[in-house]
Amino acid sequence: MSYVVLKDVYKQYKDTKVLSGIDMNIRDGEFVTLLGPSGCGKSTILRILSGLTDATGGQVMIDGKDMKKISPKNRRVGMVFQSYALFPNMTVYENVAFGIKMLKKPENEVGELVGKMLNLVGLQEKKEAYPHELSGGQQQRVALARSLVVRPKVLLLDEPLSALDAQIRKHLQVELRAIQRELDMTMILVTHDQEEAMSVSDRIFVMNNGKIAQEGTPSEIYTHPKTEFVANFIGRYNVFSKEQIGKLIGKNVALSADKYAIRPESIHLQAQVSSYKLSAIAGDSIMNGNVIRTTFHADNKQFTTEQLHHRASTFEKGMEYQLFVEPEDVIALS
Ligand code: ADP
Repeated sequence: MSYVVLKDVYKQYKDTKVLSGIDMNIRDGEFVTLLGPSGCGKSTILRILSGLTDATGGQVMIDGKDMKKISPKNRRVGMVFQSYALFPNMTVYENVAFGIKMLKKPENEVGELVGKMLNLVGLQEKKEAYPHELSGGQQQRVALARSLVVRPKVLLLDEPLSALDAQIRKHLQVELRAIQRELDMTMILVTHDQEEAMSVSDRIFVMNNGKIAQEGTPSEIYTHPKTEFVANFIGRYNVFSKEQIGKLIGKNVALSADKYAIRPESIHLQAQVSSYKLSAIAGDSIMNGNVIRTTFHADNKQFTTEQLHHRASTFEKGMEYQLFVEPEDVIALS
């Protein structure tokens, strides 16, 4: 049975439809990400789950209970935001202990639970420090410990890492996933960063314009985008019209869809038996870490390729190349 269920949820503010027909089924202990551009309704889903906002219609269930008449504080839903919102005049220990003290637990139990959480987030040594003495990443770990210590049924994370710089963000993504596995807790993360979604999630719900555009494992979403929106949003897919792809790969292909997507790294220099051939002129190449991205031109269509930068593999601008793609890497979009 699903642990968190949204059934045909919609939300409207006056004339503005913010969510329409949202259906989600999340398993206990699953790490799910809502991924989509700003304004598509991700935070609104979290606000509805936490009870901060009511849905205009539909049903929300957590652990088998309908949330309609359950107040935010009785839902046992934790929340972590981009702004850490720690109490500035309290130490790390006091910040983390705050929530369980409110539950009127005995002092020794509080000490033990807070100690465990601080260990889990790697901040045992900082327990006497004040928030202003900590880095952004450390403050966010305190906020995480403060939410986890009361053992919520579900933890909602609204862009918790967006304010941190890239390196710390990557590090915390790994830690967050490890903590979630250790506690076996259901977590729902909101992000607009597709790499972040790919690296932490069991499952991703890609959202667009108040609807779920596609759901699946990171690998399913990455390798089989269903629409042009998802193809563009989750990677740097090349999207071709039926006519363009027909010209590029020859007339011997049965084309049923109007649009097709090919990942830049699926376009190779080496042919295999079944390969489609693409002839194209190299444009500019740019280096992006270990990957070289090259723009090609063919028949008034521009597309990009990506190759690992493990040897001198740059294309010469202005030269014509024979490139190849496998038929299964040409993905029909709906
Ligand atoms: P996201 O988290 O994907 O960036 P939000 O869920 O925050 O998106 O917002 C979705 C849409 O709902 C936005 O267009 C936003 O302007 C609108 N919205 C959010 N809160 C309100 C509100 N209280 N009144 C009117 N419109 C709102």
